[in-house]
Amino acid sequence: MADCLFCKIIAGHIPADQVYEDEEFLGFKDIAPKAPVHILVIPKKHIANLEELEGEDAPLMGRLQLVLQKIARDQGLADSGYRIVNNCGRDAGQVVFHIHYHLLGGSSRLNLD
Ligand code: AMP
Ligand code: ZN
Repeated sequence: MADCLFCKIIAGHIPADQVYEDEEFLGFKDIAPKAPVHILVIPKKHIANLEELEGEDAPLMGRLQLVLQKIARDQGLADSGYRIVNNCGRDAGQVVFHIHYHLLGGSSRLNLD
């Protein structure tokens, strides 16, 4: 996806503060953090949002749950807790149309607003 910001980060054309990478997923710090820990976790496969998910994506998105768990643990959030947020579409305020999960932690007030 030539004009997708997150595909450009995956390709290394735009820098990001990466905290996790494997063959299928990337985790990097949000450029405008809303919490002491604010990481975006994405599949390397370009999927615009939850509405675009298909049945064949189920195993990939299942593995994503475990990546979220691992990053949260690595960030020291396992005991204190964390919030996972996905924005899908206009009313949710989605601005980057490459599916991503916000991992928020390090505070008892975890909101994107
Ligand atoms: P959403 O509203 O769910 O689409 O959120 C997109 C998120 O991407 C926002 O929290 C932005 O701060 C974040 N963001 C935008 N550009 C970058 C970038 N170059 N590197 C890291 N995060 C970014
Ligand atoms: Zn993309």
